[in-house]
Amino acid sequence: MDSHSLPPGFIFSQSSLQDYNDCPRRFQLRYIDKLQWPAVETEPVLENERRQHEGQLFHRMVQQHLIGLPTEKLTPMANPAELSRWWENYLTTRFCLDGYALHAELTLVAPVGIYRLVAKYDLIAVKQSERALIYDWKTTRKRPRDEWMAARFQTRVYRAMLVQAGDALNGGKPIPPEQVEMIYWYADHPNEPARFPYNDTQYKRDWETLTGLITEIGNHQHFPLTEDEKKCAFCPYRSYCNRGGKAGTMDDLAETEPTNSEINFEQIAEIEY
Ligand code: SF4
Repeated sequence: MDSHSLPPGFIFSQSSLQDYNDCPRRFQLRYIDKLQWPAVETEPVLENERRQHEGQLFHRMVQQHLIGLPTEKLTPMANPAELSRWWENYLTTRFCLDGYALHAELTLVAPVGIYRLVAKYDLIAVKQSERALIYDWKTTRKRPRDEWMAARFQTRVYRAMLVQAGDALNGGKPIPPEQVEMIYWYADHPNEPARFPYNDTQYKRDWETLTGLITEIGNHQHFPLTEDEKKCAFCPYRSYCNRGGKAGTMDDLAETEPTNSEINFEQIAEIEY
């Protein structure tokens, strides 16, 4: 096997597809060569790590709350100021989920040729034969534009995978795309969720795109560096690619879209679920 080939059974996720889309070389270094984090992604490092850690804690607290742990047991864990604010925002938001079956931190897997595609959800709320809502909690400082989120692989993979592999949540019947909606809830912007409904045309287009992309990656032997060098500023593989030694700053990140800090958080979350 060529060292740059994917093993059969390789598991794709929204993060790895996003990485490939952003930079094929990053996909190779991260998922085939399995290189760990050779360079910091954002400065200041501690501030970034602290925020990621609090983001993980927040996700865990919400998951515990959704499976029935009492609020008074969880609230004392919301210590640091940011986490406390997110938790308060979560508790005071009306999610209107009466009558829904809640599936917190659920994973769906579907075969795609000799590979698999996985989606790990923060929450799927299902009212059988009526509605299927996908919730994703975001703790990024800045609320991204809806157009930007609509184009993310997370939005495409999560909705398509629920239609493709969510029968067990709907009494054994496929969930029609029209019943699916994806909602990003921003812990720092609790009254401005981003909502993405779905339909059959979008589903067919998404599934075709995802399976086509996975087949394309599986056939690749060569993974070129991105031509968009802006993508390198927050990439941990800069030294491997001679694309600069200095990390971008949190301020730089705040002025662009919350790309890598968010991707990293998603990857950390995936490992832990
Ligand atoms: S440093 Fe740039 S070219 Fe290298 S893997 Fe990262 S994004 Fe790709």
